[in-house]
Amino acid sequence: MDTAKEVKTNCRLCAYQCGLIAQVVNNTVIQVEPDPDRFPYDKKVQNRCQRWRAIPSIMDHPKRINYPLKRLGQRGSGKWQTITWETALDEIAAKIQELKEKYGPETVATCIGGPHTNHWPLHRFMNLFGSPNNIGINQICWNAGILVNTLTYGWTVGNELDPELTNCALLWGINPAQSDNSLFWHNILQFAQSGKPLIVVDPKQTQAARQATLWLPIRPGTDPFLALGLIHIIIEEGLYDQSFVENWCYGFEELVKHSAPYTPDYVAGITGICPEDIVKAARLYAGNRPGCLYSGRAIDQIGHNTVPTHQGLAILRAITGNVDVPGASHITEMPDFMPEIDLEMSEQTMASFRDKQLGQERLVLQSYRGYEKLREYTLKQGKRLPMRYFTSAHPDLAFKAMIDGEPYPIKALIVMATNPLLTQPNTKLVYEALKSLNLLVVLEVFETPTTMLADYVLPIAG
Ligand code: SF4
Repeated sequence: MDTAKEVKTNCRLCAYQCGLIAQVVNNTVIQVEPDPDRFPYDKKVQNRCQRWRAIPSIMDHPKRINYPLKRLGQRGSGKWQTITWETALDEIAAKIQELKEKYGPETVATCIGGPHTNHWPLHRFMNLFGSPNNIGINQICWNAGILVNTLTYGWTVGNELDPELTNCALLWGINPAQSDNSLFWHNILQFAQSGKPLIVVDPKQTQAARQATLWLPIRPGTDPFLALGLIHIIIEEGLYDQSFVENWCYGFEELVKHSAPYTPDYVAGITGICPEDIVKAARLYAGNRPGCLYSGRAIDQIGHNTVPTHQGLAILRAITGNVDVPGASHITEMPDFMPEIDLEMSEQTMASFRDKQLGQERLVLQSYRGYEKLREYTLKQGKRLPMRYFTSAHPDLAFKAMIDGEPYPIKALIVMATNPLLTQPNTKLVYEALKSLNLLVVLEVFETPTTMLADYVLPIAG
């Protein structure tokens, strides 16, 4: 047996991409361990996470898909033929071309999941091919917050819990003990132990809530009322940052009028939180600056009240002067390497297919028109958001177009590193949609419910 070789690598099992050192023998990874010299720079922190330990078994798992597969028999029959990459790519390309000639390029859609893989090449393909129909998960994951923060501050903010600098932490619909059990949770525990105020808004008494100075058990979906209730108290008690408001905020007088009816008693009746705790939370957050305010995916997934909640949270940061202040939040920078929008070539490619975007009249903010408006703001700071991600097709409308062909038929879907039958809402609709397709290509590591319906499965590196 060859001696083990150490290779620096990264964990790709969540977006942090923590540093790892792999022990490689005969081209096989036999073990991985945290690399203390790279993020998160602390083995103890990374040891809290259980996922990276599974990497060697994932890489050489007996059930891993290692060759391109072509369906035999009925869709979902579970019968496959192993084919070469050349055959797979030639056949898929020919089918896509045939569908394009018959129905137009918009008949091809793509579907991605979380950013654990690089999806910009797929988006570049869609730009060059001429279809607006890239489906993502962004409607329920990040987009609302990023769009609202960009509209409010001109660009998105990164929140910053620094146990040394931060004097109050407000966690809203987020439980990092389960969702982000790495550096962030480590910081929260450290912060909670320091005795500084930690406020948690969550219907459930989560692990984060159990660490809190004040837990606000909110009735699900009533979050914008609580945000307005906090704004009301902060304004009424003069706890806002007068200098920041005067120098940096527009519309404060309108906000005073708008928030006036949201008294603690009124908000308590809607949110189910006692009025005293609403007042206490407002005083703690506004009175202990810098204060950071994190919201989680729970807020992105409460439906109609998602955007109003993000608006309320953005305003809370602003009127308390917690914008671009160490220990609270910072206005992030564009990458100093090639940004996603250039990699995906959204600005260089034809704009004609944008008229084919589904639901653009109803979903203005996530439409190309909405993006152009937003761009007017971001360009003032010389910044540009990725275009395809923020203009992605509304999943429901795309899946319906696969079934009923309205307003035009979507006949082909390329799924990359996601399992829409599990991750998208309305499984029955997704199932019917996938079954209606002329061509379903899935790029995956293991068999999933979605690969089971595919025409071709392409093994990806993972
Ligand atoms: S937090 Fe865990 S899963 Fe995420 S990249 Fe780091 S080691 Fe991997």
